[in-house]
Amino acid sequence: MIKRKTDREIEIMRQAGRITAAARQLAGSMVAVGVTTQSINKKVHDFIISQGAAPTFLNYRGFPKSICISVNEQVIHGIPSSRKLAEGDVVSIDIGAIKDGYNGDCAATFIAGSGSPESRRLVEVTRKCFFEGLEFARVGYRVSDISRAIQRCAEENGYSVVREYVGHGVGAKLHEPPEIPNFVENPRTKADPRLLSGMTIAVEPMVNAGGAAIKVLDDKWTVVTSDGKNSAHYENTILITEGDPEILTVSEIMP
Ligand code: MG
Repeated sequence: MIKRKTDREIEIMRQAGRITAAARQLAGSMVAVGVTTQSINKKVHDFIISQGAAPTFLNYRGFPKSICISVNEQVIHGIPSSRKLAEGDVVSIDIGAIKDGYNGDCAATFIAGSGSPESRRLVEVTRKCFFEGLEFARVGYRVSDISRAIQRCAEENGYSVVREYVGHGVGAKLHEPPEIPNFVENPRTKADPRLLSGMTIAVEPMVNAGGAAIKVLDDKWTVVTSDGKNSAHYENTILITEGDPEILTVSEIMP
């Protein structure tokens, strides 16, 4: 069942969203050549705690760190480590924070150093895919309208979207119904719910520079592209309203 949030729940989710987005801004500001992914994890962890929140991903189904950092061909669920970022690395950072029982979930991709024009285009297109999908995050549309806009944006730019991992409802739980795929099923095998005001969803295009195929590394977490080409990720938690969608994971600087 898709839960529509009350005004009280939405106000808490705004707070959780602001903390999560500020943590993303902090993480992005740390991405630089020579920095370890663990040092970003540590600083973001401490920031989230300092805000009276908790990092949702820590120990989530056994995930060992507070945030996910996925570099280059890593798509999502990369584990922060002693790895030092190198010039041109494409660094996807996914952050969840829970405040007073409600979650914010957001991600963005940053480049260490200046990077190549190809890498910058991948990052920009992935962000654009989110905003193309956001246009349909309105009462009167269905989940698949968001999915179609994201898929079209990625594929028109010569990229592909990941099939095995999808966006999702978010609230008291990190993952709630409905699923928000970044592609349209043909033929459709799953429900395609209508969007209603009060729904809170995480829309998160995962865009591969090469093919859509992915695999999971032996660490059981890190998802990588099968062809070894780069991948980017961009995500916000949003609220469906009677008017324009509201991005809940907002900060002064939106990557
Ligand atoms: Mg998510």
